[in-house]
Amino acid sequence: MEIAIVAHDAKKTDMLDFIKHNREVLMREDVNLIATGTTGSMAEDAGFTVRRMLSGPLGGDAQIAARVGEGKTGMVLFFKDPLGKHPHEPDINMLLRICDVHNVPLATNEATAQMLIDAFKHRKEI
Ligand code: PGA
Repeated sequence: MEIAIVAHDAKKTDMLDFIKHNREVLMREDVNLIATGTTGSMAEDAGFTVRRMLSGPLGGDAQIAARVGEGKTGMVLFFKDPLGKHPHEPDINMLLRICDVHNVPLATNEATAQMLIDAFKHRKEI
């Protein structure tokens, strides 16, 4: 499954901790990680193989939304900063909407992301 990870600046450390914590699942052969630019670089620095899109403010969220629409991305883990303002708010909302349109699992905080990953892990173990 292709899993997209996106983290706003205020949430990048949380995302880094999250992917390290879930390294075993996220590095599996049947998982392909994609990410917005800066989030992806951070994951690469931590040893992950990631397909990097543009940085979020430059269109990365829109690129991921397109992949969700095309049926390529099967899960989106988006650690949104609920306290900040973002110039690319329309793109962010589009990504969330497209996930709902296509019934693609979407987590916008760490607790939900962990539940999705646990469910994915469990499904694969059956
Ligand atoms: P970034 O983009 O990973 O390039 O920082 C995230 C975002 O702001 O949507």
